[in-house]
Amino acid sequence: MKKLFFGLASIALLFSACNNDTKEITLDQEIDMSDFYVYTDSADDLANKQNTGKDINKTCGTMSNLNRLLAENPGLEKKMFDIEYKTRQYIAAKGNSSGKGKPGGGSGGGGETDIDVLPIQDNLNIVIPVYFHIVLQNANDVSDAQIQSQLRVLNDDFSKTNTNLLPSGATNFINDATNTGISFSLAGIARHNDNTSSWGSNDAVKNAYPPVSPSTQLNIWVCNLGGGLLGYAQFPGGNPSTDGVVILYSSLPGGSASNYNLGRTASHEVGHYLNLRHIWGDGRCRQDDFVEDTPTSDGPNYGCPAYPTVNCSSTDMTMNYMDYTYDSCMYMFTDGQRNRMRAIFAAGGSRESMIP
Ligand SMILES: [Zn+2]
Repeated sequence: MKKLFFGLASIALLFSACNNDTKEITLDQEIDMSDFYVYTDSADDLANKQNTGKDINKTCGTMSNLNRLLAENPGLEKKMFDIEYKTRQYIAAKGNSSGKGKPGGGSGGGGETDIDVLPIQDNLNIVIPVYFHIVLQNANDVSDAQIQSQLRVLNDDFSKTNTNLLPSGATNFINDATNTGISFSLAGIARHNDNTSSWGSNDAVKNAYPPVSPSTQLNIWVCNLGGGLLGYAQFPGGNPSTDGVVILYSSLPGGSASNYNLGRTASHEVGHYLNLRHIWGDGRCRQDDFVEDTPTSDGPNYGCPAYPTVNCSSTDMTMNYMDYTYDSCMYMFTDGQRNRMRAIFAAGGSRESMIP
């Protein structure tokens, strides 16, 4: 749930004198950033749901990793603020361009705005090359076929072609499921036999095996993680030397992590990598995920929740990839999440360099 409150939008239309049809449009919108946050109390939100008795020990380490990175790098918060600002500009510009064709697609004396992030074309399929690092005591324990399956799951989930899109009973929200227009291709696989029995969320595995071309490729480290961690990701704006996603090897399709072995840990973590927050906003009812078409909630959901599950006076979108539910019970991103993810690929966006 995200409400964009714009300050006074001043729109000046300047029509030139009669002989030509030149029209200039100046669009000046203030972006409200008052709800922006980066630091979270990740232990607190988990305690909030502690009594559910579900698989609370299976978690994502993205927010605690972010807290660590913020503490180590005082410039990161400002960088993330700037990325968020541009994202909101993008969404505002997209709203303003609706029904008018796509801006940025050519000159011809059309318009001029002072918004410095223009919407990327809605019909542009963004293809992200993915480089896998398999880091295990026996790196062949993850097969090429499993990696191909993982890629297929990412492609299905991000394009809304996943087959579990309409589980029985959960008819609401189905119209909010969207094709993000983002797909994934295999860039390469590196296998590393490593005696480390398990890794944490402190980026040690990335430091041991650095990313390959992180400005143009998504790097995914597949390894064993301790402490119930399913995975963690780095948000846009972080250090390129640790950019990417780490996932538990047994979360790959066909892996041994029961209830979490359909490949959706990767879908969740890649969502973070593309700037999505957890759907409950990592806080109480008033803390937001910065997405306008997701409901407010006060904590993660676990297991396979009954529908409707109501928190903060609204029905939770427990089937969203950015919740903590079982792989078999999640099936969607929303249009608002799509816009957020695509914003970082627009001109001036933090992952613009991934567009060829
Ligand atoms: Zn997460």
